[in-house]
Amino acid sequence: MKDSYGRTIDYMRVSVTNKCNLRCLYCMPGSCSDSCDMLSVEDILTVCSCAAELGIRHIKLTGGEPLLRRDCAELVYELKRINGIRTVTLTTNGILLKKYADKLFDSGIDGINVSLDTLDREKYKYITGADELYSVIDGIQRAEERGIFVKINSVIMRGINEDDISSILLFVKHRPVVVRFIELMPVGEGSKYIGVSGADILEKLGNAKLYTKRIGSGPAVYYNVEGYRGIIGFIDPMSNKFCHKCSRLRLDCEGRLRSCLAYDDGFDMLPAIKTGREAVKDVIKKAVAEKPLGHCFEKGVAPKDGMYCIGG
Ligand code: SAM
Ligand code: SF4
Repeated sequence: MKDSYGRTIDYMRVSVTNKCNLRCLYCMPGSCSDSCDMLSVEDILTVCSCAAELGIRHIKLTGGEPLLRRDCAELVYELKRINGIRTVTLTTNGILLKKYADKLFDSGIDGINVSLDTLDREKYKYITGADELYSVIDGIQRAEERGIFVKINSVIMRGINEDDISSILLFVKHRPVVVRFIELMPVGEGSKYIGVSGADILEKLGNAKLYTKRIGSGPAVYYNVEGYRGIIGFIDPMSNKFCHKCSRLRLDCEGRLRSCLAYDDGFDMLPAIKTGREAVKDVIKKAVAEKPLGHCFEKGVAPKDGMYCIGG
């Protein structure tokens, strides 16, 4: 599908819940109680198969915490069987990954992103509200042992986990991992903190030689670093805005189809799902046709909904 600015839209993030077992400082308010009516597996499959007919090729399951849904691996399995869908991946905080790694592997998942903003146990507790660092590390290890391609996502906040950049870089130096630094966006709780750009993180590598590397077709810029076993990536929505090449739609857990994460407006899919596949496809086409040119975070325009509702 092409939108009105000529961008190819072939990727859809699907938020399967807004419930979470963490309360990351920049994402979910501590006071937040579990609330959402989740879409059923059937509803998600209807929207995704219609989207595939129209040209969506890549699906990422997100949340909230997607692994809180016991049917997550079954959903991956069914999504993988849809004609036209090339990759199905998942983004998780990793706490339940050890438990589900085998099932996810068997479902045919193409990759997992694990969010991890520090390697320090106390700092992890401070950022997320839970003493679960080692569960996450065990989960990553189990997924890697099963041969699942894992990427680690880190969000850095000035004055909170800036000190952790060096230990994360050391981790990449000594292990064959992919770590991506995602620049903080002023969405929900995120607007209370100041992010750190990829350029600032790169400075910490001093004179080390960098070699750009291509992985996937997303907005991340990747580098092999001289002397490092792992790969470093940067997703900089603020300091290196990439909206002009955005390829995404988002289905939130209430069944709203959002064509941009930066705005609250979206299209309610539930009536269309009840009406039938042609109605669902019409909504998808409308969302693509009306996809905005980009975010306006720099002008203070941000959605009211938090990232745990939108799915990141
Ligand atoms: N719970 C899962 C996880 O943490 O990966 C999936 C949902 S979470 C909303 C998806 C991604 O959004 C995570 O990598 C998280 O770090 C990121 N995120 C949340 N709030 C953000 C913000 N304000 N700015 C940038 N990234 C954010
Ligand atoms: Fe939960 Fe993920 Fe948000 Fe953290 S970033 S509170 S793990 S949804």
